[in-house]
Amino acid sequence: MTSVKSVAQNCLGKQPTLSVREDILGVYANDNPQDRSLKKQLDLIENKPFVRVALVTLQGATPTLQRDLDTANEIYQRECDAWIYPVDSITVTRNNLLILDQDDCGSSGHSVSDEEDELFDIGRNLGADIVGYYINSSNGGFAGCAAHPSGRRGFWVGNSASPRTWAHEFCHVVGDNSHSNNSNNLMFTPTANITNLPADLTNGQRDDILADPAMESC
Ligand SMILES: [Zn+2]
Repeated sequence: MTSVKSVAQNCLGKQPTLSVREDILGVYANDNPQDRSLKKQLDLIENKPFVRVALVTLQGATPTLQRDLDTANEIYQRECDAWIYPVDSITVTRNNLLILDQDDCGSSGHSVSDEEDELFDIGRNLGADIVGYYINSSNGGFAGCAAHPSGRRGFWVGNSASPRTWAHEFCHVVGDNSHSNNSNNLMFTPTANITNLPADLTNGQRDDILADPAMESC
């Protein structure tokens, strides 16, 4: 049997000392307990394409981090035959950014506010191209937003996020997917009103995700 250490090193670039829970299974919080198979996870790591994400929580936010990761991974595995690897999770104190001042949440011609500029600098050294932030909210009143400064890919979700918001924002970033008017689709909005769970992706969305430059394989 392939050793866990060599898979972690060869496929994920993780060196000993390893935490099987965090570095292999990708579990960083206790909010979604379930049985997790090491064998199944090693099979995913060795055989399926994946995208790395780093997780940053602002102290004072109320993340449902594991639920969000598990929901997104369920959709990725089912719809794309790919998976999401959380490289690390940190909590930082930035009280000024808990409620984010944002000029807009648009995908084209986005104006980066000073606070967004500050937020999207955090976590850039954690080992992932994409960083997901947990804050409380924004002045725009969104549940989440995937607009980001150029060259610093990421998104934030707030405390009014639905269980699908994190996956939805992640999907805006990876594959550059836009909204869908099909209520079964992950890119329907608001995500709280998505029907027939788990949420679907179209073949076109899947292809765009798999073609994303951040997608890699062992
Ligand atoms: Zn959206």
